[in-house]
Amino acid sequence: MNTLGIIGGLSWASTHQYYRLINEEINRARGRQSSAQLLIRSVDFQPVIDAQVRNDWNAAGDLLCDAARELERGGAKAFLIASNTMHLVYEQVCRSVAIPGLNIFDATATKIKAKGLHKLGLLGTRYTMNLKFFREEYASRGIDVLVPKTKDASRINEIIFKELIHNQVKPASQETMREVIATLRQSGAEGVILGCTELELLLDDKSRTSNSDSGNLEIFDTTANHAHAAVDWLLLTG
Ligand code: GLU
Repeated sequence: MNTLGIIGGLSWASTHQYYRLINEEINRARGRQSSAQLLIRSVDFQPVIDAQVRNDWNAAGDLLCDAARELERGGAKAFLIASNTMHLVYEQVCRSVAIPGLNIFDATATKIKAKGLHKLGLLGTRYTMNLKFFREEYASRGIDVLVPKTKDASRINEIIFKELIHNQVKPASQETMREVIATLRQSGAEGVILGCTELELLLDDKSRTSNSDSGNLEIFDTTANHAHAAVDWLLLTG
């Protein structure tokens, strides 16, 4: 099996989920005691967040380029960035190494298309919900995205940075996500993209099956979609 490199720590709480999901799926596919060959370069998140806040995406990208080069030197044959937001610098990171990247939008769009959906709510950090880059990435893959109204978007952003990146899951925040998803559905969303790798931590059985009073709505969890693409790559190249 080839080795996949993961640029993680964006945050550690979601990198932990990637690690679990990829290993579980590899074991299901291969059986016995098989697990995935991974190299994880978990970065210090603070300098990345500082660069995000300064709007200095080039500096944030440089930090990830260093991590990608370390993975390549360590023997990884492909890499992924375990964050939606940091896909803003995906091309910059790809240019810094000779190994290919696995793109989170490709992974998610494949799942959405398989369900025949085109109009999706998008939840994520304020960057993911507000910057035109993310809308365009989905539009170029045939998907229109709807984002929550400003107040709901700030609540979601605050939950991500104050709670989820520390692996804290509060029932009130789960309820908030259900309410925001219900509002997106009322605005015409056919499904919802959890476009932040920590948001799946908020999913409980209630959100998975009923989305409270909103009825069933497909949920596309970018962490699971990306982990799944990683497993496909590991199995195909193995
Ligand atoms: N993990 C998050 C994401 O998927 C947010 C952390 C970050 O700002 O990179 O967007």
